[in-house]
Amino acid sequence: MKLAERMSRLGTETAFEVLARAGQLEAEGRDIIHLEIGQPDFQTPEYIIEAAHKALKDGYTGYGPSAGLPEARERYAQYLNDTRGTDYDASEIVITPGAKPILFFGILALVNEGDEVIVPNPGFPIYESVTEFVGATAVPAPLREDREFRLDPEELASLVTDRTRLIILNSPHNPTGSMLTMEDLEAVAEIAMEHQIMILSDEPYSKMVYDGEFHSIAEIDGMKDLTILLEGFSKTYAMTGWRLGYAGMRADLAAQIAKLQTNCTSCTASFIQIAGIAAYDGPQDESEAMMAAFEERRDIMVEGLNKLPGVSCLSPAGAFYVFPNVTGTGIDSKVLAGRCLEEAGVAVLSGTAFGRYGDGYLRLSSANSIENINEALDRLSALLGG
Ligand code: PLP
Repeated sequence: MKLAERMSRLGTETAFEVLARAGQLEAEGRDIIHLEIGQPDFQTPEYIIEAAHKALKDGYTGYGPSAGLPEARERYAQYLNDTRGTDYDASEIVITPGAKPILFFGILALVNEGDEVIVPNPGFPIYESVTEFVGATAVPAPLREDREFRLDPEELASLVTDRTRLIILNSPHNPTGSMLTMEDLEAVAEIAMEHQIMILSDEPYSKMVYDGEFHSIAEIDGMKDLTILLEGFSKTYAMTGWRLGYAGMRADLAAQIAKLQTNCTSCTASFIQIAGIAAYDGPQDESEAMMAAFEERRDIMVEGLNKLPGVSCLSPAGAFYVFPNVTGTGIDSKVLAGRCLEEAGVAVLSGTAFGRYGDGYLRLSSANSIENINEALDRLSALLGG
């Protein structure tokens, strides 16, 4: 079989590979604590499940418009406006099976071969993968610990060339948990407006905020039409497997992204879009309780990690990951991630799974119980001789 040449440029998410290896070890009888995957360990709130049942019984079982059901587009637009102070209307929303397809469609729609896309590094690996897949170059914008892993706008400005088509932002950030301040966003907006560069602002962790205030670049005057603002239900409502996400963007671009969806998935499952409306309309206390649980676990993880020899860990402002610096252990981060799994039975990711600026770090997810997190910390302590 001869694969298309572009397939050699497509990357993947290491988290899924580590999950598979952990599964193999479990099949051999090993006890593994999973801190590798970014998936809430909670069940979707019951009222959302009931809304999906009802929608199925009400006949939401057929194809719908590619951009999404009108009532869902309207409700999701309202949610963005309520949480970001924007003024999206339904025509500016495209609903997709998860937020992830918007990354794919957005890059396909905007980026030509030979163009450049500036991506956070460390960062969600799909940004670079899809950029390279379309024949463009992913230009890493380093996120460094001395800026609490927040993008440095001055450095960003120095990376812009006449081939830059897109800048990807992700705040709160996977894998470091950093969150951009309003000042950071204003500096990025200035660069985007000066060069008329589109921003893809990936904001699925907007509700997982523990310190400081969440802001979106789309709320800055003049930025809404230069931004694709990505939101989803996976993290906020523990709905990863439902596959429901969406984005706000100018209406003419929304029509193009919808056309990509017509060519790919046709539409997002209708009853699931209705369940998404219910998620927003219903009581938020369960979602808020999940977010509070992630904050408590963050604190336990950060404290525990800082007690390990050779490890230091900032307290992340948002998302549900911690990103400890492990250079003091003298062990290469990739080797250490492997040893955590094979020797200690704790599945974690090497920071290098998120790009070369992740070297020297591990990523641990707090999507596990406090009991398991404490057990994992004990095991890591034994591994590192703490
Ligand atoms: N963007 C980031 C930064 C993520 O971490 C994830 C999921 O892990 C996604 C997008 C995709 O989320 P969804 O499940 O909505 O496709």
